[in-house]
Amino acid sequence: MSLTEITARIRAAEMAAQRPEGSVTLIAVSKVQPLERIEAVLEEGHRIFGENYVQESLGKWPPLRERFADVSLHMIGPLQSNKAKPAMELFDAIHTLDRPSLAKKIARMAKEGGSCPELFVQVNTGEEPQKAGVLPDDADAFIDDCRGMGLTLTGLMCIPPEEDDPRPHFEMLAKIAERTGLSGLSMGMSADFEEAIAAGATHVRVGSAIFGARDYGQR
Ligand SMILES: *Cc1c(COP(=O)(O)O)cnc(C)c1O
Repeated sequence: MSLTEITARIRAAEMAAQRPEGSVTLIAVSKVQPLERIEAVLEEGHRIFGENYVQESLGKWPPLRERFADVSLHMIGPLQSNKAKPAMELFDAIHTLDRPSLAKKIARMAKEGGSCPELFVQVNTGEEPQKAGVLPDDADAFIDDCRGMGLTLTGLMCIPPEEDDPRPHFEMLAKIAERTGLSGLSMGMSADFEEAIAAGATHVRVGSAIFGARDYGQR
């Protein structure tokens, strides 16, 4: 599917949900995609991209940023604390703030550096042991803690369990955001971004539907 088609489907989903046109930001998830495919999407004029790995992004994006102005990069993969510094320098947004030790580190570096990426707290709505994110029951307290450290939060992020109907997860995330006064909702991927928009997503993270299937063997 093309970028144009995905954008059209996003606009249609906004309309169906009676939401303003352009209220949903499309993050094109380019992890492990070959450079030609990313360049093609940049040539089409898209500038907002998502990546999962700091190391891969450091190799890939600084040269692309020299050729294409105004690229906005979103970190959507789990963030190790020892990669927090390069991640803060490279990314405009981090969607995977999920633990106090990482929050502390980011708060300290934001103070030292005088700037901070936009921050989303990842919530493990399916309470899956292998998945990152704070548990739903711990979300409010963690959000309070982050604010207490001086961090400004943009919103929440979730990745519903693959086998579940994603809608209750999107609705749960929207509810937590509402009661904690957060306006950003990073939710919805290739298979379910329209449902996410219906539930209030402000940022959808779409990879394979734009770029084609990922080939991890090529890395
Ligand atoms: C890879 C990834 C995506 C994109 O997934 P697709 O199914 O290819 O759209 C979105 N969000 C996160 C957190 C991801 O890791």
